[in-house]
Amino acid sequence: MKNLYKNNIYMNKIIRKVYNKIRKYKGGKVASYIPELAKVNPEIFAISIVDCEGNIYNIGNYNTEVAIESISKLFTLTKALEIKGKKQLMKKIGFKGSSLAFNSIPAEELTDTHTINPFVNQGAIATTSLLYKKNKRSFTNMILNNMRTFANRNLKLGKSVYHSELKSNLKNVALATLLKSHNRFYGNINDTIDVYTKQCSMKVTSQDLAIMASVYANNGIHPQTKKRLVKSAHLDLILQAMKAEGLYQYSDTWMIRTNGVSAKSGVGGGILMIIPGVCGIGIVSPPLDKNGNSYKGIETGVLLSNEIHKLTGKKNKDCLVNKTLKRKLKKKLKKKTLKIYK
Ligand code: GLN
Repeated sequence: MKNLYKNNIYMNKIIRKVYNKIRKYKGGKVASYIPELAKVNPEIFAISIVDCEGNIYNIGNYNTEVAIESISKLFTLTKALEIKGKKQLMKKIGFKGSSLAFNSIPAEELTDTHTINPFVNQGAIATTSLLYKKNKRSFTNMILNNMRTFANRNLKLGKSVYHSELKSNLKNVALATLLKSHNRFYGNINDTIDVYTKQCSMKVTSQDLAIMASVYANNGIHPQTKKRLVKSAHLDLILQAMKAEGLYQYSDTWMIRTNGVSAKSGVGGGILMIIPGVCGIGIVSPPLDKNGNSYKGIETGVLLSNEIHKLTGKKNKDCLVNKTLKRKLKKKLKKKTLKIYK
């Protein structure tokens, strides 16, 4: 059973089964606090899987591009770890949980580290600022080209989303200013906000997301280019940080429902998932739930994780306990019923 996932018939079956089930779901609303995102077609739905050998499985609108948004935070964190190291990241950003929205002003004020973690806007903008360079072009290129290396393709900037977000990101400017006042911001505010907004506006397909995720699944080595892009010493930290905060306030419930899959979402409607040693997954469906995660994306991710765990032999212990408990309860119930009727 263990190596069944290497057989593409099974992956194709799984992806089709999940897609056909979830495509009928209705729920969520496309993001509107960035006006350009409100124009996105809510019907877009795509799933892509890339296994550790680089095989690709696609279904739905997998050629349609959306803004990567907060999923970009994963790659900037990875770059920051590479350049600054673990200690600096722990000290200058930190990895605290947050129970408030991803761009909450009170959360910045009330959390003692202010930066909170690299996946909420506070910590993400500060992480981008950690990589600040006076030369704006090389600062921008470092952040954007890093994502292109993961995607193994020349990802393009979504100009209309970028301009729309630049006009409507006063909250992010406020967060950066507050961070600066707390000595938790490490570069020039205007340039950093500009580069952060660009990193969020890069256009990706579900297939791009799956390819990018597959690098982490394949122990940091790109399955297509065979180049090491993530130091193995940083992988655990990255995967654990995603578990703790990748889906914001939904992260803990997601952990239970997927039996511990690392994931990251973005308000463009994308979700990136990593199943170590097996595959990377990219899902795109723009309508969001109240936490800012793709509504269909969450349900797709849960089903896919459970199907893939069944295939690879990773047992969901919670389910096993429940099944045993249920069996015992049934037996007890039977005995009682028998007694009553005797
Ligand atoms: N660019 C968006 C912002 O800064 C990203 C938010 C998200 O995807 N959760 O608000």
